[in-house]
This record gives sequence, C-alpha cells and structure tokens, in this order.
Amino acid sequence: MGDKEKNVEDILKPGDIIKEKWIIVKMIGMGGFGQIYEAKYMKSGESAAVKVESSQYDKQVLKMEAEVLQKMKGKSKYICKFFGCGRESKFNYIIMSLLGNNISALRKATDSGYFSTSTALRLGVQMLRAIRSLHDVGYLHRDVKPSNFALGMGRHSRRLFIYDFGLARKFADDRGMLRPPRDTKCPFRGTLRYASLNAHNGQELGRHDDLWSFFYLMIEITYGQLPWRSLREAERIKHAKMRFDHKRFFELERVPKELKPFREYLESLDYYTKPNYDYLIGRLEFGMRERKIDKSEPLDWERL
Ligand code: ADP
Repeated sequence: MGDKEKNVEDILKPGDIIKEKWIIVKMIGMGGFGQIYEAKYMKSGESAAVKVESSQYDKQVLKMEAEVLQKMKGKSKYICKFFGCGRESKFNYIIMSLLGNNISALRKATDSGYFSTSTALRLGVQMLRAIRSLHDVGYLHRDVKPSNFALGMGRHSRRLFIYDFGLARKFADDRGMLRPPRDTKCPFRGTLRYASLNAHNGQELGRHDDLWSFFYLMIEITYGQLPWRSLREAERIKHAKMRFDHKRFFELERVPKELKPFREYLESLDYYTKPNYDYLIGRLEFGMRERKIDKSEPLDWERL
C-alpha cells in the first residue's frame, strides 16, 4: 500500500518458461510487491496467473500467499486453484488460476458508480462465503476490499474469488484453537479505506475485522462511495469512521436495508467470538427473496 514498486524492471518476458511447463504470455498486473503474468500450460493450453516477487526485495509476501493457497486446496470454491510455487535465483513465484475483472474495476465501469441491489446482494453473499471459507481453515485475510475479489474465467465467470493473501495471518491452529492475541501494538498494514477501527488502533485483528471491511465495502458498492474516500491521513479516516452515521445511508433505496443490522452485530463481536456467518448471509439472502431476485438474472456488467 502506497509502497508500489516504481520503474522496476519486468522480472519475466513473453516466451519465458517456468518449471519447464508454463510459458509466459504477457504481464497483466503490478501489485504492491510483485508482478503478475498470464501464462499457459504448454501441454493443454490451460491459462494461469503467475505472481512473482524479486528475491532481493525485503518484504516477501509470496510465502504466505503460497501457504494459504496450498492449505485451501479443495476446501473452497471461492479460492483460486494452486498449481505450484518455486524459487529461481532472482525471483520467487506462485502459479494459480487466472482471474477476470475485480469488483473495484467493475464498479468503476458502471455509469452510476454503484451496483444495482440485485447485483450487490448476490456479490455480497459470495464474498461472505469466501471470507467464511478462509476463516474456517484458520486464516484471516486482513485486506478485504473490492479489488481483492475477482470473477473467474470461462465457466466460473459468475463466481467471485477472494485473492491476494500477502497480509493473511493464521489465527487458529489446525485443531481450531485460537492463537492468543498479541498485545503489542501492530503497525498498520492493509488498506486504510476499508480498515476496521481495530486496525486503525493497531490491535490484533480477528475474524470480525475482515467483516468490518466487508461492511464498508458493501456501503461503497451500493451507495457509490464512502464518506472518507478523499481523506488520506489515517487519523482523519479513523475519526470519520468513528462519526460514521450509517443509518442515513439506509434511507436511500439503493443501499439494502438488510445491511443495517450488520454494524450493531459486528460491534458485539471480539477476537474470541466466532462470527455467525449464517446470520449475515441469511440477511442478504432474505433481501434477495423479498425482492424476488433470481440468481440467474443478468449481473450489471452482463446487461447490454
Ligand atoms: P499485491 O498483493 O502485490 O498488491 P495483487 O495480488 O493485488 O498484488 O495483484 C496485483 C494485480 O494483479 C491486480 O491488479 C490483480 O487484479 C492482478 N491479479 C492478481 N492475481 C491475479 C490472478 N490470479 N489472475 C488475474 N489477475 C490477477
């Protein structure tokens, strides 16, 4: 965040071959700490995304990403397939399924700047399920935001995937026992716009903090913006969140009133309490039933 590598050289070029099996097609993105390329499996022509980070770079995040993708293998339909990872002399890499447009880009491409209630509720249900599946395996995402959810490709083009696990953290061991929260103040990591107040205060983050980010995200994609969207300083954003009068947003037809109880519910949670995901998903599904939203109707970007 704010740390984007500038003017760095491309680590790979079209035609380069990874693991003797994958051929690089082109660069498709630059992240905070690395580069993303589209690649093809030479035998079958199947597409994939290769995320690389320079081995000279201090902040190595790919290790955590690879760990999450590996642990999530076969556990969630909302997480990319993991095809492998490795180290070369100059860079580390992971190979995963290629994704399509992300929610932030899709929102910005709408005429109004916000999604219809039908699209937003359907996206919301999928995002909550994705977050829950990550938590179920013992990981927090810690950077939930619209640009970290993307549509799949081909037959998965209506399914959302959660990605970018560079800031993830294991909060529970494999038997589901919680790690004790650290009481030292943690430096801020993540994205200020969607950060929970706990994250602003440098506290150990828990499952509810991913859900706070989800709550802010939902207001943004249904209302069109968040009140602190043009603020830059962390302190000012934090104060805007403390003063946030969310109720006034629900007077507008376009912000689904089913989101209204989320805030009070999230306020009742702490690090130790497992959120009731079914309750939150149920609220959104109730909203869909009440509005007679059919799962197969076109999503906003599928309309002509
Ligand atoms: P960082 O964690 O370094 O910020 P991201 O994971 O957010 O990197 O990715 C950077 C860019 O690459 C983003 O624009 C994102 O849309 C794109 N990207 C990341 N993963 C994939 C993927 N699996 N398929 C397609 N594009 C991807």
